[in-house]
Amino acid sequence: VPWPQPEDSLYPALADAVSGTVVLPGDAGYEDQRLVWNGMIDVLPAAVVRAASPDDVAPVLAFAQATGLPLAVRGGGHNVAGNGTVDGGLVLDLGGLRTVEVDPIDRTVTVGGGATIADIDTATVPFGMAVPLGVVSKTGVAGLTLGGGVGWMTRAHGLSVDNLIGADVVLADGTAVHASAQEEPELFWGLRGGGGNFGVVTSFTFRAWPVPETVYSGNLVYGADRFPEALRAFEAWTGDLPDELTSIASFLVPPPDWDMGDDPVLAVGFAWAGEDHQAADDAVRRLRTLAPPDAEMVDPVPWTDWQSSLDPLFPDGSRAYWKNTSFDALDGDVIEVLTRRGREQAWRGTGFDIHHMGGAFARVPEDATSFPVRGAGYWLNVYGFWNDQSDDAHHTAFVRGLAADMEPHSGGGQYVNFMGAEDPVQAAPSVYSGEKLARLAALKQAVDPGNLFRRNHNIAPAGS
Ligand code: FAD
Repeated sequence: VPWPQPEDSLYPALADAVSGTVVLPGDAGYEDQRLVWNGMIDVLPAAVVRAASPDDVAPVLAFAQATGLPLAVRGGGHNVAGNGTVDGGLVLDLGGLRTVEVDPIDRTVTVGGGATIADIDTATVPFGMAVPLGVVSKTGVAGLTLGGGVGWMTRAHGLSVDNLIGADVVLADGTAVHASAQEEPELFWGLRGGGGNFGVVTSFTFRAWPVPETVYSGNLVYGADRFPEALRAFEAWTGDLPDELTSIASFLVPPPDWDMGDDPVLAVGFAWAGEDHQAADDAVRRLRTLAPPDAEMVDPVPWTDWQSSLDPLFPDGSRAYWKNTSFDALDGDVIEVLTRRGREQAWRGTGFDIHHMGGAFARVPEDATSFPVRGAGYWLNVYGFWNDQSDDAHHTAFVRGLAADMEPHSGGGQYVNFMGAEDPVQAAPSVYSGEKLARLAALKQAVDPGNLFRRNHNIAPAGS
């Protein structure tokens, strides 16, 4: 292991200092604890501390600083770059902090720093509410939110960060603070898009929105021979849609339960964030008219069902490599790249998504949050995930190749949460730029000058 190791005798002191558990190599559970969602991240931490209370955070930070061990903070462990664990270092796992408190009168929700999307949806939906989060229910709310948080409500209500109203944070020196528009406003700004660079968030408070009993949602599906026509229709359709409708066009080999064979398809998935199913149906009919689908699955379901419908596609331990970009026009050249690559992508597990942005998301002023990719009309997430190590080279090459093909057409930057393991350290300049990067670096210098929190898409402290 390439990192300095503390004396074994220090670990009992750490275990005494926390109410949670300290799991060391050889202990029961270590094998599970060292791993994250991405099965390619096969590393051996020196210790994993499973926090049982927010008070466990400060002693772990002090231990990391005293020993010089590199620190990884883990929320849901879904980060594709593997930032939720660290070889030879100390993992602070917040997966035990998953309480969810719902205030149905104020429509706010306060959750622990290790909560998953499913934890929140399950608690809020009985009150007829939901927080804008992501589209796979086991994803950690912490990493998702700190990087942005895009999902099926993005056009109606913005990103997860746009609905964050406060956070309890433990800073590098162990100080616990509350960040909101009123308290620690600069830290609050940085948390909303700056990733885990500034501290350990032990709880988040979100604004929630009404959800109907069943959500108008589904997929229109097009075969590979229809890709150019379907993409042209998707562009025309998304040019004039009500904010309630968020859609994601996915190129993929259909899962077996779709019963559509083994050839790649384009599935335009959508969800309507509102009660009015007739208005939703009118909006979707416009796409049907522009390009009649080869198949469709439109079936209003409870929000929790829709939110977990993609889970089976992303099993724990998948080997994964992702890249992303954003672009403004779904024009001839982009359609050529996406069609060619969509037809070439002929194995289950690797695909790519076009997220239609705009709406409430785009109306948040650029400087209101540190989130950097507000302007682009579409995001492209190229996601590879597969089971077999022997497929690593082929599938990563596909992801890189498509990203390279798209480079000349890219406009508005990258989304930190869809970045893979390539250069995770010091990737910040490719994500944040100009004034925003300078402001983030100044905040980093103020709250974490020693760069304790560096297992992320790292923002170097100003002056370092
Ligand atoms: P972790 O690996 O635990 O952590 C991610 C980063 O956040 C690390 O740098 C970590 O140090 C930091 N961090 C974690 N917890 C804390 C905390 N409490 N305080 C401070 N820092 C912390 N993103 C979307 O926007 N929308 C989606 O629909 C979506 N779907 C996804 C589906 C799958 C299957 C996967 C694997 C990812 C998806 N993502 C999505 C990307 C996701 O947002 C990121 O992977 C995110 O990093 C996951 O957060 P996590 O807490 O699970 O990850």
